[in-house]
Amino acid sequence: MKIDAIKNGIVIDHITAGCGMQIYNMLGLDKLDCSVAIIKNAPSLKTGKKDIIKIDSHIDLNLDIISFLSPNATVNIIENEVCVEKRSVDLPERLVNIIRCKNPRCITTTEQEIRHEFILSDRAKREYRCIYCDTKANP
Ligand SMILES: [Zn+2]
Repeated sequence: MKIDAIKNGIVIDHITAGCGMQIYNMLGLDKLDCSVAIIKNAPSLKTGKKDIIKIDSHIDLNLDIISFLSPNATVNIIENEVCVEKRSVDLPERLVNIIRCKNPRCITTTEQEIRHEFILSDRAKREYRCIYCDTKANP
């Protein structure tokens, strides 16, 4: 498959194969007016397969969402068909208003105004815990 190179925009590369759609949804890319391409199962030297997202515009991306779902992803900023910046993402220590607690008795499910906050509890397992009730959350 051949996708036109983008002139100005963002390429999220090295996404864990199978995570591209989830990142697309959680970043809210369906709400953009510009063209967005998701390439699934592209060949990768490192991991065999990867997903790639190309966004034909410069937008602010929530890097915490990308690193939570796919910690090995890289974010490339493209200007005039040249990659001017390459950012690797790192697992965030805190996730604020990105995921919701699964515990039905957690205060975040009953109080509307409260923020959903998780702290990284195990980096190797990519495991987070709700700061209010300690319930585990994984991607
Ligand atoms: Zn909770």
